[in-house]
Amino acid sequence: MELSPNIAALQPSATMVVANRAKELAAAGKDIVELTVGEPDFDTPAFVAEAGIQAIRDGRTRYTPAAGINPLRAAVANDLQRLSTRSVEVDPQGVVVSAGAKQALFNVIFSLFGPGDRVIVPVPYWTTYPELIQIARAEPVFVKGPEENSYKISVDDLEAVAARGGVKGLMINSPSNPSGAVYSTSELQAIAEWAAERKVWLVSDEIYRRIYFRGKVAPGVLDLPSELLERVVVVDGASKAFAMTGWRLGFSYSSKAVASKLSALQSQTTSNVSTPTQYAALAAYQREDEADREVERMRAAFENRKNVLAAELKSRLPDVSYVEPEGAFYFFINTKNLARPGENSLDFCERLLVDANVAVVPGAAFGDDSYFRLSFASPESALVEAVRRIAATR
Ligand code: PLP
Repeated sequence: MELSPNIAALQPSATMVVANRAKELAAAGKDIVELTVGEPDFDTPAFVAEAGIQAIRDGRTRYTPAAGINPLRAAVANDLQRLSTRSVEVDPQGVVVSAGAKQALFNVIFSLFGPGDRVIVPVPYWTTYPELIQIARAEPVFVKGPEENSYKISVDDLEAVAARGGVKGLMINSPSNPSGAVYSTSELQAIAEWAAERKVWLVSDEIYRRIYFRGKVAPGVLDLPSELLERVVVVDGASKAFAMTGWRLGFSYSSKAVASKLSALQSQTTSNVSTPTQYAALAAYQREDEADREVERMRAAFENRKNVLAAELKSRLPDVSYVEPEGAFYFFINTKNLARPGENSLDFCERLLVDANVAVVPGAAFGDDSYFRLSFASPESALVEAVRRIAATR
C-alpha cells in the first residue's frame, strides 16, 4: 500500500492495547479492575452541562469563528490571568479554542515545527507528543532527567542535546501524564530562560494544572516574567479540570501572530469546536465561584485517592518504587521488583491482566519500558483491590 510519508511512522495510541484486551475480558464475564483510563470518572458539573443544553435550545447550532466565540476566548484569557501568580496581561486574541487539548497540540506542533527540526521530548512523555511531531515530519529527541528528581529535566540535560544543533522546540508537561511530576516555578523559569536564550519554542501542556496536591493550581509558564514568554505556547483545556473529556474543548495561548496562524490552520481543517460545547465551556470559565467549587471537589477526591493508594503500596508492596505524584491522576510504578526476568512492560501488563485481572498501561507507551501507569480516576475500593491483586501475583 502506497501511503504518504506524512503518516509513515504513525502508530495507533499505545495506551489502548491493554485497555482493549481488558474490555474483551470484561465482556466475557471477568471481574476486571480497569485502571487504564485517562479521564476523570466524575460527571461534567451540572451547571456546565445545562449551559450546553440551553445553547442547543436557544438555536446556538451554527458555525462560529474558527478560533472560538469571543466571549469564550475572553473568559479563557481572564481565567489564565486569574490563575497566574503574576496576573500577567492575557490577550483574548492569543487564545485559540480547539477540539480538545489534543487538537490544540496538533495545531501548535504542525505550525511551529517541520522537516529538519528537532523537538525535545522529556521521558516519560504523554504518548501523543512523538506522534504529532512525526506527523509534522520533525524529529522527536528524547531526554530523561534523574530518577531522584522524578525524571524532571534540567538545563544541563537540555544543553547536552541542543549542543548537537537543530533544536527548534521543547515539550513540557506539568503536572505530567504519566508520572504526576510537577515542575516548580523556579525549575520552569530556568527552562524558559534557556529556551529564550536558545530561541527554542517552549510548548507547555498544562492540562492537569488544576489537579494538584500541593496547592490550588500547579505552577505554570504564565507565572514567569513576561519577557520570557515570547516563544512560549500554553496548551490547556476543560477536559480534565471540568470532567469534560467528551465535549472536546481545549485551547492554546500564544502571541497574536502565532494564534492567527493556528486559527487559519484550524479554519482549513475542522473549523470551530462544536458550538454548544463552546457555550458549556463558557459557563465553566465564566462562572468562577461555581466552577472553583466543583474543581475543588474533584481535586480533593483525587488527592484522597492518591493518599489511599500510596498507603496501600507502602504496606503491601514496600519494595516497589514509583514517582511521587504531585498532580494529575496517575502513579508511574517501577516494575523492577514485580516483573519476571525477561518481561518487558507489555509482557508484565498482559500477565497482570490475565493472572490478576488488573488492567494498567505499559510504560513503553510513555517511553519507559521498566514502568507501568496506574490511573486513580477510579473509586477508592477499586484502587485498594488492585494493589491487593498485584501483591498476590508475587
Ligand atoms: N495532554 C495530556 C498530557 C493528556 O494526558 C491529554 C489527555 O489524556 C491531553 C493533552 C488531551 O486532552 P484532550 O482530551 O483535551 O484532548
